[in-house]
Amino acid sequence: MKRFLTGIALAAALTVSAAAEACENAYAMLDGAFEGARMSACEPGDRNFVVTIDPENTPINPSPWYAFRVTPKQTGAINVIIRYSEAQHRYRPKLSEDGKSWRRLDASHIRERRKGKKVTLRLDLGTEPFFVAAQELLRADDYERWIEAVAARVPLTVFPIGESVEGRPLMAIESTPETERPNKEFVLFMGRQHPPEVTGALAMLAFLEMVFSDTPLARDFRARFHVIAVPLLNPDGVVRGHWRHNVNGIDLNRDWGPFTQPETQAVKAILDEIAADPNSRLRLMLDFHSTRRNVFYTQANAEPTDPPAFTLRWLAAARERLAGYEFEHAERPLSKLTTAKNYTYRRFGVPAITYEIGDRTDRAAIRASTVVFAQEMMETLLGYNP
Ligand SMILES: [Zn+2]
Repeated sequence: MKRFLTGIALAAALTVSAAAEACENAYAMLDGAFEGARMSACEPGDRNFVVTIDPENTPINPSPWYAFRVTPKQTGAINVIIRYSEAQHRYRPKLSEDGKSWRRLDASHIRERRKGKKVTLRLDLGTEPFFVAAQELLRADDYERWIEAVAARVPLTVFPIGESVEGRPLMAIESTPETERPNKEFVLFMGRQHPPEVTGALAMLAFLEMVFSDTPLARDFRARFHVIAVPLLNPDGVVRGHWRHNVNGIDLNRDWGPFTQPETQAVKAILDEIAADPNSRLRLMLDFHSTRRNVFYTQANAEPTDPPAFTLRWLAAARERLAGYEFEHAERPLSKLTTAKNYTYRRFGVPAITYEIGDRTDRAAIRASTVVFAQEMMETLLGYNP
């Protein structure tokens, strides 16, 4: 487990370990001393453990994240009983020895009781320690490695746009057209305002891999559009295994208007720069999330956007190519809700879309559909005059 003890991960291990002590019996030890862990309390029994999962603060949207590590002391099986203080069981347990490749715990090993407030997991013990988590762990250092890999393939600028409450860098990736154009057109992609929303994060990374790929379409796209991506907007929440909020207990996707938090302020500063330059125009904003189904929350069709009808054209083009992939286009007229979507649409009049992936959407299907959504996004935007 040595690889956790570097940089941000070390800080995380220290902060998280303060939340819950490791606990053990004759069969295994359970701990939460790693980035992304959430195990609020742990009581060992003879052959079982009762793990309590609390949110970071309340009230809170019910996305009960949990993640702990099991270190076997002998072979056999244990029951881990998860008790939620504030929500019902939502995420199907995933298991991994290395924190990279994950498998779902078989349904026959999961028993929900008390309407999902209590869930018993039967875990088979081998010889290796393994993680049990609500979704795959996609951590700050995973993003660092991913950014490095993408930036090695095509020319990109990687820079911090600010710092989180706890001082972690908020990294942006930018691609700038090689030949300067009189009108600068920007697209903005962001993700992980909400830490447990890993499926949305997986989609975002696959989406950006297409936009930043070395294909003729992506090259044409980047020759015209400035692309700015902020894939990890709530690094503190991810490190601390939060259900939804940043370290100040604020839902970042309700802070687009108040702008009380450094994470949202950092992105606002980018938008301010675009707005301040008479030759610059924002053309599109996509904000990646997860929910219980695949859905795009968009402007109402009757609300004008510039470019006009982008969303209808984009989603129709993608749907033609995605016969087996279910997704919903949910119109959500501009409301008082202070989300990134509403803020960006109100300020710029551009298509501003919350791109939601289902918690349980098949991971290969996420990737396959995202390729299409990314390609059709580029084709559709390139179809408008500069
Ligand atoms: Zn969300």
